[in-house]
Amino acid sequence: MATAKHPDTDMLHAAEGARVGARPLTTPIYATSTFVFENAAEIEAYQRGGQASYLYTRYSNPNIDAVETKIALLERGDAALLTSSGMAAVATALFGLLKAGDEIVCSSAIYGGTLHLIVDYLKGFGVAARFASLEELATPGCLLGAKTKALWFESPINPTLRCVDIAAVAKACRAAGVVSIIDNTFASPINQQPLTMGVDLVMHSATKYLNGHSDVTAGALVGSKAIIDRLHAARKLFGGVLEPASAYALSRGMKTLGVRVARQNASAMRVADWLSRRAGIAQVFYPGLPSHPDHAIAAKQMKGFGGMVTFDVAGGYEPACRVFDRLGVVQRAASLGGVESICSLPVLTSQYGFSDAQLAAAGVTRGMIRLSVGLEDADDLIADLDQAIG
Ligand code: PLP
Repeated sequence: MATAKHPDTDMLHAAEGARVGARPLTTPIYATSTFVFENAAEIEAYQRGGQASYLYTRYSNPNIDAVETKIALLERGDAALLTSSGMAAVATALFGLLKAGDEIVCSSAIYGGTLHLIVDYLKGFGVAARFASLEELATPGCLLGAKTKALWFESPINPTLRCVDIAAVAKACRAAGVVSIIDNTFASPINQQPLTMGVDLVMHSATKYLNGHSDVTAGALVGSKAIIDRLHAARKLFGGVLEPASAYALSRGMKTLGVRVARQNASAMRVADWLSRRAGIAQVFYPGLPSHPDHAIAAKQMKGFGGMVTFDVAGGYEPACRVFDRLGVVQRAASLGGVESICSLPVLTSQYGFSDAQLAAAGVTRGMIRLSVGLEDADDLIADLDQAIG
């Protein structure tokens, strides 16, 4: 072993020597911004790509690598990229793939942050944006022009949980040489794997179901090696990498993803079914209900219908606020996908400030409550909703 020149390095080498072969079950937190090399030859080997090692945490780190491997496997992709938030993943994808003169076609029903990034920033760099309604997305081939380089969409969509035929969009994009990108946050890879349906790139706000405990902000991109290599270079320069301790926490949360989502699917189905029969509720939006306008599409492409349920309280905004304020087990908070059930009023969050016409175009009413079903007993959730509806 080469002579160590720093006390920390000395201790590490001593510990390694004392317990050779001892392997931790979990990935320890590599709380280091940089990595030590023995000599110039090692650095040369790293730079040539001949040696699988680490140089600097903004480029990568064992905790980041471990999560990326898991997410790639879950989404059936070749590779994944972890980012410091869902929005960092959106920005890395859009700015990493598009350049001035290109056009992006985008579903008009997408997460507000993504919409603002495109309108307020991407357009300023010379990328044209065309927004498409759900009806237009039903014939995706007609939307793609000579300059279209990417198509961005979501399914299920917030807060109506409307669904888009993923395979049809992916097929049209492939035929036109357009990169299809889906925000798969609401479904989670347990319920929906868009890469297997022909989509090129999957994006996640890992803040939601992937982590599942409402204590980490993170994002992810998953796709082929070629596309992820390209975006890895962009992430390196944009700097939106996840910090190792957060990557560790995310990897711990992800260990229970399958059981959490299975339980949330089952509880959400029960809650949606109960709400659909409860007086005082005008409409329930859940892709698992046969009454949902996209139930057939959801049944075709989802393994489970997810943990999000939206319902419209009869009478509009004031009655909805009264129900909202009376909830006790369900907490009032933005976000979704955690172990605690939380709810929000779309007119005060995602659709805040919308005119009546804009609300109608988004299919959103003033009486809507969006519920993210957690891991509480479904009977307790139903009892809470029952007393709140009154
Ligand atoms: N996409 C969807 C569907 C979201 O709901 C969110 C956040 O609410 C984002 C992207 C952005 O993710 P983050 O808040 O982790 O940046």
